[in-house]
Amino acid sequence: MSREVRVRFAPSPTGPLHIGGVRTALYNYLFARKRGGKFLLRIEDTDQTRFVPGAEAYIQESLEWLGISPDESPWNPGDSAPYRQSERKPSYMQYALDLVEAGHAYYAFDTSEELEAMRERLTAARVVQPQYNSITRTQMKNSLTLPDEEVKARLASGEPYVIRVKIPRKEEVRLNDMIRGWVMVQSATLDDKVLMKSDGMPTYHLANIVDDHLMNITHVIRGEEWLPSAPLHVLLYKFFGWEDTMPEFAHLPLLLKPDGNGKLSKRDGDKLGFPVFPLNWENKLDGETASGFRESGYLPDAFLNFLAFLGWNPGDDREIFSLEELIEAFSVERIGKSGTKFDIAKAKWFNEQYLRAKSNAELAPHVIADASKEGEIILQDTAEALVALMKERVTFPSEIWQGSKFVVIAPTEFDQDVAGKRWNADAVTVLTAYAETLEGFSGTYDAETAKAMLGETAEAKEIKLGKVMQAVRLAVTGVGAGPDLMEIFAILGPEEVAKRIRFSLATLDVIS
Ligand code: GLU
Repeated sequence: MSREVRVRFAPSPTGPLHIGGVRTALYNYLFARKRGGKFLLRIEDTDQTRFVPGAEAYIQESLEWLGISPDESPWNPGDSAPYRQSERKPSYMQYALDLVEAGHAYYAFDTSEELEAMRERLTAARVVQPQYNSITRTQMKNSLTLPDEEVKARLASGEPYVIRVKIPRKEEVRLNDMIRGWVMVQSATLDDKVLMKSDGMPTYHLANIVDDHLMNITHVIRGEEWLPSAPLHVLLYKFFGWEDTMPEFAHLPLLLKPDGNGKLSKRDGDKLGFPVFPLNWENKLDGETASGFRESGYLPDAFLNFLAFLGWNPGDDREIFSLEELIEAFSVERIGKSGTKFDIAKAKWFNEQYLRAKSNAELAPHVIADASKEGEIILQDTAEALVALMKERVTFPSEIWQGSKFVVIAPTEFDQDVAGKRWNADAVTVLTAYAETLEGFSGTYDAETAKAMLGETAEAKEIKLGKVMQAVRLAVTGVGAGPDLMEIFAILGPEEVAKRIRFSLATLDVIS
């Protein structure tokens, strides 16, 4: 019987979740859903020195915003609880001791000065990668070199120690990565990593393997930066005797800077003028802040769609995918091997597509909220009308109110540049006549009638409408460009249009 698919996203709460981490979470989520399995979240907080308050809540909120919440997590525990490694602390030591017992790990008592001296010695001898390994360990203070009695005495006296993995000297370690195929590494290139630290906390490597095993993880989908650790992980599965249930690995390609030169870093975002985090972030310890996609106006479904394409594609030219469609189309085989350039223009494009596909009613609350921030109370109908005016012209919902608020707030000032160029005697003639017509008007005033009436007015004065059109816009909106003017007239109604024209005539001087 095949095992139920169980994947996990295992972030460390050391700061805000980076966009690369969100992509890892998304791919794990899609993989689990596609295979009818479970998506777990485990907080890897064994490194207490790097713990940042608020980071865990940030991870939770980010995933909730995108609608990819885990099936099991610290805040939604299942059978594999607890889901924070700090709460699983008591269990790790025994696993490390089992490895010592079986001869796959050993105690090491070297002080930091001794370790430093070793590194210096090796560097002086021109060793490229000075490390604690199958060769150098023979000259260090550990349970492989010290007599048994001394090891016991040191342990009994409470002397600080770490437990290191004993990497075999000559072994080929192989793993079949789902994205990269066979990866082969000679064990001689690996070092004897610390598994248990002197403070009694496990390192990432030990805790990660033990937990993946205990949580019945079937597939490990994570960033490429973990590929160098994978051979050690494979060895640990072997040493523990867990090879039969060892998860399959998939290492996701790196996210690159927009110019393709190097990895997209956490600091790139605000430096390059776009967010690299899902949500705004403020570090409570040092006050450091970073901007997020959510607060920058990206819609969650658009952002999710964009994210899915950072390293994966469906194999044809379709680009717009709902979460359900992504689940249906997703496969690890279609994840690329090489790094993906981060292209913010593409993120904007997705946002525009999703914005346009939304109904006016759906977007109206954004406009109502933005208006109220400026003290304007607008009704659903008005908000929907503004959405209709602006939807095709904007990238972000906030641009709707910004680009159309003159509909609600009559202009009291006029763009002087446009006035200087377009405000002339012809404009005044047409506008005066149009205001008069409107003041006596009581029929239906939609965009078409508004336009027909304006056209007739200009014609009667033998003035070409095209020549005065920008002045008409200026009179009613205060600026020289914007959405369809006749639609604006229809929303305002004849009385308000006439009122605004009168105000502009009284305010603007004719420079002709
Ligand atoms: N805690 C690791 C991280 O922060 C998890 C790596 C893994 O998925 O094994 O990315």
